[in-house]
Amino acid sequence: MLQDRDRIFNNLYGQEDWGVEGARKRGVWSEIPAILDLGHEKIIDLLKQSDLRGRGGAGFPTGMKWGFMWPKRDDRPRYLVVNADESEPGSCKDREILRNDPHRLLEGILVACFSMGANASYIYVRGEYYNEASHIQQAIDQAYEAGLLGKNACGTGWDCDVYLHRGAGAYICGEETALLESLEGKKGQPRLKPPFPAAAGLYGCPTTINNVETVAVVPEILRRGVSWWKQFGRPRNHGTKIFSISGHVEKPCNVEEAMSISLKELIDKHAGGVRGGWDNLLAIIPGGSSVPCLPETICNEVLMDFDALREARSGLGTAAVIVMDKSTDIVEAIARLSHFYMHESCGQCTPCREGTGWMYRVITRMVRGEAEKREIDLLLDVTHQVEGHTICALGDAAAWPVQGLIRHFRPELERRIEAYRARAAA
Ligand code: SF4
Repeated sequence: MLQDRDRIFNNLYGQEDWGVEGARKRGVWSEIPAILDLGHEKIIDLLKQSDLRGRGGAGFPTGMKWGFMWPKRDDRPRYLVVNADESEPGSCKDREILRNDPHRLLEGILVACFSMGANASYIYVRGEYYNEASHIQQAIDQAYEAGLLGKNACGTGWDCDVYLHRGAGAYICGEETALLESLEGKKGQPRLKPPFPAAAGLYGCPTTINNVETVAVVPEILRRGVSWWKQFGRPRNHGTKIFSISGHVEKPCNVEEAMSISLKELIDKHAGGVRGGWDNLLAIIPGGSSVPCLPETICNEVLMDFDALREARSGLGTAAVIVMDKSTDIVEAIARLSHFYMHESCGQCTPCREGTGWMYRVITRMVRGEAEKREIDLLLDVTHQVEGHTICALGDAAAWPVQGLIRHFRPELERRIEAYRARAAA
């Protein structure tokens, strides 16, 4: 189990002062001039060595992403955009950073902006996060007043402005290019790629979009060193991670743990175990609502990191662990997720616009058993026609929960169909 001294977010639960004075007492904003003295290339190189992967869901290597921005290829301004939209059902980790440790994010923004040659950053926070937006704005004001942001930030000679933008509550605005559109004042619809944001992002300028947690951990990696960070987790899956554990556990919580901890240990040690004991477990969605669920047999063994969960045909996603015990109607639970993705589809591409509604209607019939057995394979086939054939990942997000259901709970679907037929024949 991760020791307290190795936790980066030492005010995750808001027990101490989240303002600038409290943050400084916890070591935030320390050694920033020395870190920036390393220079652009060195910081990016250290991040590449650290194997830090994005904490927003995709797990893209952060050092490589920042490397797309530096060295500068032209004189256009460049931007860092922090994705604080956090709309994935089950995910509630970034909000704790925003309201309880906002200065960790701000010092990370300064380091990130400097590394990529950006002088401005935008934090895009979901509209529903009112208290979080309030804290982060107050933290920004404190940082300006203390000379930590703005002109000559931290006395480093680097200018760094930070702006907060509140979204209006659309899930799709968490997709990075839809977020940029929204930030520009347009309808939040994903852009066709290429060009990628590093080439043409916000206002057509080079832009990097990073998740809150990703940006917030960077200064601590540079302060404590790459070898400290790499002692946690497995190769390509290093470091610490905030897990959000919800659903049928005794004590739902957010907790920072070492990557690659086993799913069972994570739940038993931090969430008080599954309600009614581990044997009462039905399934777990390990990475936010968009990844396929895993049955108890796999949950027994699987490790919580990007590669282990990919091998288990699921995903780490945002590390939002949704636990379902045997009281759960798993078909109805997945149907509810299908409704969510149908509702949140922006409607630009046909497979997603039509497919999400089609999947929802079929699976809703399957909740009642009102279907033919052959429709299970038809439904699976449609998920594959949606997956990978859309502009953004929402199509995949809609397809994967249904695929997980069919992969692991086909007998339950068949049982319902048979029961419905038997009732109809009686
Ligand atoms: Fe919009 Fe869905 Fe296409 Fe994404 S996949 S762009 S949400 S229609």
